[in-house]
Amino acid sequence: MSNLLVNSQNGHISASQRIPAIARPFVSERAAKTLDIVERFVEEECIPADAVYLRQIGQTTEERFNAHPAVIEDLKKRAQELGLWNMFLPKNHFKEGAGFSNLEYGLMAEYLGKSRVASEAVNCAAPDTGNMEVLAKYGNEAQKRRWLDPLLQGKIRSAFLMTEPQVASSDATNIEMTITRDGDSYVLNGQKWWSSGIGDPRCEIYIVLGKTDPKNADKYKQQSVILVPKDAPGIAIQRMLSVFGYDDAPHGHGHVTFTNVRVPASNMVLGEGRGFEIIQGRLGPGRIHHAMRSIGAAEKALEWFLARLNDPRKKPFGEMLHKHGIMLERVARSRIDIDAARLAVLNAAVKIDESDAKGALKEIAEVKVLVPEIHLEVIDRAIQAYGGGGVSQDTPLANMYAHGRTMRIVDGPDEVHLLQLGKNENKRGAAHKTRIEAQTKKGEELCRKYGIEVKDVLALDRVNGEKSRL
Ligand SMILES: Cc1cc2nc3c(=O)[nH]c(=O)nc-3n(C[C@H](O)[C@H](O)[C@H](O)COP(=O)(O)OP(=O)(O)OC[C@H]3O[C@@H](n4cnc5c(N)ncnc54)[C@H](O)[C@@H]3O)c2cc1C
Repeated sequence: MSNLLVNSQNGHISASQRIPAIARPFVSERAAKTLDIVERFVEEECIPADAVYLRQIGQTTEERFNAHPAVIEDLKKRAQELGLWNMFLPKNHFKEGAGFSNLEYGLMAEYLGKSRVASEAVNCAAPDTGNMEVLAKYGNEAQKRRWLDPLLQGKIRSAFLMTEPQVASSDATNIEMTITRDGDSYVLNGQKWWSSGIGDPRCEIYIVLGKTDPKNADKYKQQSVILVPKDAPGIAIQRMLSVFGYDDAPHGHGHVTFTNVRVPASNMVLGEGRGFEIIQGRLGPGRIHHAMRSIGAAEKALEWFLARLNDPRKKPFGEMLHKHGIMLERVARSRIDIDAARLAVLNAAVKIDESDAKGALKEIAEVKVLVPEIHLEVIDRAIQAYGGGGVSQDTPLANMYAHGRTMRIVDGPDEVHLLQLGKNENKRGAAHKTRIEAQTKKGEELCRKYGIEVKDVLALDRVNGEKSRL
């Protein structure tokens, strides 16, 4: 047994043995075996390769955004030898994937979330995953052959361009980019930002949301999604945005302008006016993939936390940190938080498997809000234990925190999901009021039946030791 895989006092308990009891009935034998291979691949090959990747990117901005680290291609070959490829495409909905359910992939994605390079190594990295789903679900045969095939083979990468700097883009009806029909072409004008992945030299295709019919009375029919090759004349990357100072190279996040960008009319996906439907279809699974990886990242933060508590060189006030009770309480809370959040994620995955992302809107929204919260909280506790080192480049924690913080904004900010959840929950309010009133009335009737005088209908229990006067 490799030392790299030791995860308890008793040595190694494999990933498949650690599947939560509630999820076990949903996991096939093949998926359990693959999960163990994923764990081993991530822990033994990907996490050590993170250090190589970060160095192979280079130093200068020019180098960093033109980098194609050799280590990633070696890992991709290795992943394919191990049979780890495209596990994200769920078997119920796509024939192109590796044949796993969302739940099974969810368990695997947790491990992928522990390494910078692992998701890309197995061709399960965002935004390609969501983009491949769009093409597989809504693309026509020609679009699939041209763009989906090379994406599935990991030969090219892609970007998804929805957000715009001049409007509140969490409400996609605000999007202003115009897509105008002109003969056999469409012409695009406007600007986008936070176009993730656009910095990568292998990024060949942009999936762009814009408006074909801005005056349509139905504001959800104004938008369309169109495929734009990166070298279409008129596209200019104005700048790359940083995340708390990190450039996320070579992937990066671009601010891009489109000036009379012309693409063939055949690049329209599904048809004019179907854009809203497509982005809704894309964001559901994407949100849960982020959540799955964040659980793994939270586990990694806890591992680093525990490593620091057990570092004999560091003894504040004469004791190793694990002797300080407050730290153990934080460890315990982290364990509870991660385990609870994992169950919520797996539950959402099962719900998607049973229907589709639309049928699991509530569960997806729950994890979209819950997981980043616990993820950040756990990383924060680990950072605190490292003192100054925790916010420096000497641990992965600072970068993980910066990345984790974006998850409260990416794919729609918390507030949008909370509002939706709150609104839906509140729909039950009137029914609850009616039921509570009926129960109270029935309680009064029962009291009278038993000869109890009902003086104060609101006093349902004893207060301050007085006899209840119900
Ligand atoms: C690292 C990163 C990567 C990203 N990658 C991509 C990408 O690849 N492609 C892409 O198109 N976009 C991407 N985005 C953009 C992201 O999806 C948007 O930032 C997000 O949807 C919010 O839109 P906005 O920035 O326009 O904020 P706005 O819509 O202006 O919202 C600002 C704030 O208003 C508040 N708010 C919004 N709605 C409500 C409400 N209903 N009730 C109360 N408060 C509310 C929230 O606090 C919100 O954060 C990325 C963003 C980040 C940070």
